[in-house]
Amino acid sequence: MRRRLIVKKFGGTSVQDKERIFRVAERCAADYRDGADVVVVLSAMGKQTDVLIDMAHDINPHPPKRELDMLLVTGEQISVALMGMAFSALGIPAVSLNAFQVAMHTTSVYGNARVKRIDTERIQHELENRKIVVVTGFQGMNKYDDFTTLGRGGSDTTAVALAAALRAEKCEIFTDVDGVYTADPRIVKKARKLKEITYGEMLDLATLGAGVLHNRSVELAKKYNIPLIVRSSLNDSEGTTIKEDTRVEGMLVSGVAADKNTTRISVIGLEDRPGTAFKLFDLVAKAHVNVDMILQSIGRDGTKDITFTIPEDTEDECVAILKENLKRLRAHDLDVNHDVAKVSIVGAGMMSAPGVAAKMFECLYNADININMISTSEIRVTVLIDEKDTERAMNAIHDAFGLDE
Ligand code: ASP
Ligand code: MG
Repeated sequence: MRRRLIVKKFGGTSVQDKERIFRVAERCAADYRDGADVVVVLSAMGKQTDVLIDMAHDINPHPPKRELDMLLVTGEQISVALMGMAFSALGIPAVSLNAFQVAMHTTSVYGNARVKRIDTERIQHELENRKIVVVTGFQGMNKYDDFTTLGRGGSDTTAVALAAALRAEKCEIFTDVDGVYTADPRIVKKARKLKEITYGEMLDLATLGAGVLHNRSVELAKKYNIPLIVRSSLNDSEGTTIKEDTRVEGMLVSGVAADKNTTRISVIGLEDRPGTAFKLFDLVAKAHVNVDMILQSIGRDGTKDITFTIPEDTEDECVAILKENLKRLRAHDLDVNHDVAKVSIVGAGMMSAPGVAAKMFECLYNADININMISTSEIRVTVLIDEKDTERAMNAIHDAFGLDE
């Protein structure tokens, strides 16, 4: 009979020094001794990825993306090798593997690759030999036989992808917080830990700035129905379970999130005729820039404006390509503002309850916070506001919806 298999992922702070590395090893050893097969996915130690990025930019302010990935993957290799040694010191059979040794196939976009397929033979073989398998998070290989990386925070996605490919019983994400909160506890003092949350809610929260999980990891977990558990690597508290259905806690809204990594771009005086939006967003897409909120004004005198938001860290690429093409787009002007933030409320409960958006707007009005843009989905309301108002807005919303109760 097949043993139960658990994938456990530990973030950078969980492996930042010797003491913590051993704590992780002990924690995995407990499941192993309990009879489970254990696959461990690790991030780079501490802030190592940031250090490597700084090193790269010191040599070349615009490092070739291939070379940058080549550099970044070293961070995770250090972690897994040291963890392999820690297991050995504890007398537990283990083997560390990088993306090539696993055969973690991804798309070819450096810096933002997606997992396509994982060959599981090597891992299965090691597990059958009763070894703990320690895998580098964040990295993959592409069809050119180059290393790729999955985007910042991508180790979560590595873990879920492995859990799906290996049909794990669950995927545990160990981090430096106790679980998923109703809001970032550093900003909202009254934030409360959630016991359970749906994939849909978590996906929105992760995408909208709740830093706790890489959003693609949630997408994958949902697709393959892998229970995801977010918990602390520093204590034994229960954490938050992310799954399809939750025993609804009777809440309209499960959380509020903010994302300051946002830039608003307005393209002014575009021709008001078919194909304009296509031409504009085709350009943006070719620059590999993700567009989020989009707003188009009513046409007037044959022209219209289109306003949209993008991640602030892609602003330079996006603005450059738009400036180059302003004439071809027949636009008059660009207006760019990165002192803005997105604040969102998320809740599966709002699907069947009217008035949730109005309540959020009312509370922002009471706090004298101006709304620049609005977008909604079935389970989410997002507003774009001035960045300086972010903390105030989050606290006001958290109070208004009674999320601390
Ligand atoms: N080490 C990578 C990063 O810092 C990946 C991860 O931690 O998930 O983004
Ligand atoms: Mg992370």
